[in-house]
Amino acid sequence: MKIVYTLLFTALAFINCEQAPSENTENTHTVSKEKKTEEITTKNKTEVIDEHTLSNYNEVASKHLDLDLEVNFETKSISGVVTHTIENKTNADKIVFDTKYLIIDKVLLNGSEIATYKLAPLDELLGSALEVNIKEDTKTVSIYYSTTEKTEALDWLVPSQTANKTSPFMYTQGQSIFSRSWIPLQDTPELRITYAAQIKVPKGMLAVMSANNPVQKNDEGVYKFEMTQSIPCYLLALAVGDLEFKALDDRTGVYAEPAMLESSAYELADMGKMVDAAEQLYGPYQWERFDVIVLPPSFPFGGMENPRITFATPTIIAGDRSLVSLIAHELAHSWSGNLVTNATWNDFWLNEGFTVYFERRIMEEIEGKDYADMLALLGFQDLERTLKELPPNFQKLRLNLTGFHPDDAMTDVAYEKGYFFLRLIEEKVGREKFDLFLKEYFDVHKFQTITTDQFLAYLDEKLLKPTNTKLNIDEWVNQPGLPENCPKIDAVLFDNVEKQIALYKVDYDPSVLKTDKWSTHEWLHFLRHLDNSISKDQMAELDAKFNLTNSGNSEIAAIWFEKSINVNYRGIDNALKAFLNRVGRRKFLKPLYEALAKTPEGLERGREIFKASKDNYHYVSSNTIEKILGLK
Ligand SMILES: [Zn+2]
Repeated sequence: MKIVYTLLFTALAFINCEQAPSENTENTHTVSKEKKTEEITTKNKTEVIDEHTLSNYNEVASKHLDLDLEVNFETKSISGVVTHTIENKTNADKIVFDTKYLIIDKVLLNGSEIATYKLAPLDELLGSALEVNIKEDTKTVSIYYSTTEKTEALDWLVPSQTANKTSPFMYTQGQSIFSRSWIPLQDTPELRITYAAQIKVPKGMLAVMSANNPVQKNDEGVYKFEMTQSIPCYLLALAVGDLEFKALDDRTGVYAEPAMLESSAYELADMGKMVDAAEQLYGPYQWERFDVIVLPPSFPFGGMENPRITFATPTIIAGDRSLVSLIAHELAHSWSGNLVTNATWNDFWLNEGFTVYFERRIMEEIEGKDYADMLALLGFQDLERTLKELPPNFQKLRLNLTGFHPDDAMTDVAYEKGYFFLRLIEEKVGREKFDLFLKEYFDVHKFQTITTDQFLAYLDEKLLKPTNTKLNIDEWVNQPGLPENCPKIDAVLFDNVEKQIALYKVDYDPSVLKTDKWSTHEWLHFLRHLDNSISKDQMAELDAKFNLTNSGNSEIAAIWFEKSINVNYRGIDNALKAFLNRVGRRKFLKPLYEALAKTPEGLERGREIFKASKDNYHYVSSNTIEKILGLK
């Protein structure tokens, strides 16, 4: 997922495989490796405790879900039945599901037998446990239910919040522990499930899921889905709207509202190459299709790696394909996260640290080392800033989230500290050995979950011991802050930007700036380094030369607007208003409203803009902005 982490700009290209060892060595090696991995996995499996589920999945586990649901836009609710096919490992007499803010109507065993059940009182963090009494011969448990207006996973958009402004829209967000609020299930990443679904939606609308998907609407408004590869249930996902599909090649395509379809297809045209390139790096893509749905502008996040269909913000549609790295990040999750999944939310860095590492390796192949170093340095700066703000307990890779919501831990620590730890290992053992290790890691653990301990045991056995590498692992994994041996990044491309800044600051003449070959990153670095002593006239001169106010690039526009507000440059006013009215992504809204709120006049302007734009924001965003503007 891309929520906190903000670096963009990755693309992918074909990457040559590192040379493999000779055939004989490889075969021998593989046999003993698999055996040992099995031992490690078995040894540690029983120790896994997920504190964020109320379910008894270790005793009796739901293995497959059949959903038969109707999406009702008038009542803003989803209702129907979920049938769980269960595996009773311990001959238990009850199965416990996670639910939150759901109405349970009835429960049937084996399709027809009325079951007795108990819905526990609500725990604000974890929800209400649903305990269903089962028997020895119970194979399936069917729960009839409906969602309520409190359901956290669902976002219901009115037509004004969409691109076409003609139809309503809804989508789900399961990660981290929200799936239980739209389906009663055993909501732990440790458990993998398959699912099938039948979804009824109003006529004229299309439903898509993290499964095989229809490519066009039908007259009945009933759509069938199947996900035959096992997934953790936070990846169960559904979106419904006036959607159309356009294929990009034989295994990639894009879903979007009609008004966004062509521009989205243009922007994401290279997705097929991205998948090919990712496969060259860490092995076959295991999910058949890779499609992206471009959600309405009020989607408050960057992206979500729902398998087979990544959910994405429309702010990446810049017109010049410069922001598609977000797609690369979500694609990388097809290996790290979706294929090999953190067993509990305490191990979240295993999902995100690997994904950031994967992203940057690909960038290096495409744009070169200097470019990738620039990304890593920006990431390092983000991490340093985050570490200054976070309490020590949240600065560790291995977290202890007892009593906390897992979303509290979705910080740069998992993403960037995780990245730098993996980069350190790469630097210690050499890239060739690290790449072979990673490729095997994904292959050996595919469609499984893994804890930090299991990963560290595997790392030691397969890489550190054989290469006689000593590492201060405990300091990295279990201690706050950044260890001394964190890799140091020297980004030469930023040296050049800094030289340009110095040159420019001599007499603030924008014509001295040589920006022809600047990527968006260099622009961001430049704009971030404009201090607040710059005058309004100097801002106007920069604007006249580079037309920054009208940048179609949301990253550049957002930082330019923020600087302009800070120095009261008013040439942006109309564009700022239009931007805040159109974009619902919290990452952009928050700093802009914060900048406005610094002066009484700005605060008033901010409130006016907010009043006119509020309907276009998801509650996640409007809730944040109301606090900034003193409206809450
Ligand atoms: Zn992610």
